[in-house]
Amino acid sequence: MTHKTQTIKVDLRSDTVTQPTPAMRAAMLAAPLGDDVFGDDPSVNALQDKLAALLGFEAALFVPTGTQSNLCAILAHCQRGDEYIVGQYAHCYRWEGGGAAVFGSVQPQPLNHQPDGTLLLADIEAAIKPDDEHFARTRLLALENTWGGKLLPFDYVQQATELARSRGLSRHLDGARLFNAAVAQAAAHGTDALLEARRIAQCFDSVSVCLSKGLGAPVGSVLCGRQDFIARAHRIRKMAGGGMRQSGLLAAAGTYALDHHVARLADDHALIRRLAEGLSKLAGLVVEPAQTNILFVDLVGEAKARAAELIPYLAARGILITGLYRLRFVAHLDVDAAGIDHTVAAMRDFLMGRP
Ligand SMILES: *Cc1c(COP(=O)(O)O)cnc(C)c1O
Repeated sequence: MTHKTQTIKVDLRSDTVTQPTPAMRAAMLAAPLGDDVFGDDPSVNALQDKLAALLGFEAALFVPTGTQSNLCAILAHCQRGDEYIVGQYAHCYRWEGGGAAVFGSVQPQPLNHQPDGTLLLADIEAAIKPDDEHFARTRLLALENTWGGKLLPFDYVQQATELARSRGLSRHLDGARLFNAAVAQAAAHGTDALLEARRIAQCFDSVSVCLSKGLGAPVGSVLCGRQDFIARAHRIRKMAGGGMRQSGLLAAAGTYALDHHVARLADDHALIRRLAEGLSKLAGLVVEPAQTNILFVDLVGEAKARAAELIPYLAARGILITGLYRLRFVAHLDVDAAGIDHTVAAMRDFLMGRP
């Protein structure tokens, strides 16, 4: 009999890589189904009602992806020739193929982020155009929380959204990781995560939440807002090809995730703190302070020259990360402390030049 060395698999590329748990799969199989294009799917309706109620909105819409959710939101808030103010590295500007411009003729007005992820109030103010034929009509402020794993300070969220409201703009939150933000904010304030999720959400006219990120569902996002806004978004979802049929099979996973996977996001945040602590002891790295489930790390000095070797080096040890701009490590449901410790050890070996 041959003994294989035990291979550890640690996939830190994204919190989208999770497998549905056995209990989540059971909830999916047990879900009552109908044709959601007729509005007949009880499991879709239950998910939409649940998240709308949880975040304090009149209505909600289940969509296949966060990208489609943001697209529906921007197009439901804006008309052709309108513009939305957005972060230079916000997902709904930078990472969605320019969809709002391509499909909606809605012009983005990107602003630089501050190191904490915020957009300066003065920059927002300066970007709001006067009503003049030279300019696109400034219609919407879109924020993202968490952004790059950073929790936007709640005071800031209140101030920025109040500024937008006072200037007649609608406010959209790309809250793909809203519950990570809420769990981190609750820990900082000694309050309840669902309460914090609602406090953040209530600063906005619409909020998009991903179920397929840290919450661990296989597919889906939910867009929340007022009844008339959701009615417009519903029409756009249909146009975008997002009218699904017995999608309660997927929605049931989302409902399960909201019931069982919110509080446990704190575990992911703790794993990232453990990783940050381990890595910060190693020479050759700059480790960004981590607030939620995402950690950015830069190689410096001699190690930087070998940057291209790192990802394959880790992959050979069963560890997957991304390094598009910077090294990114993301914790989720399918990562544990042993995987984190294995990652720290492999990083140490790499930096010490061990083969
Ligand atoms: C992942 C993500 C999205 C898009 O979600 P998809 O389901 O991948 O389309 C939108 N915004 C943010 C901040 C995200 O992280």
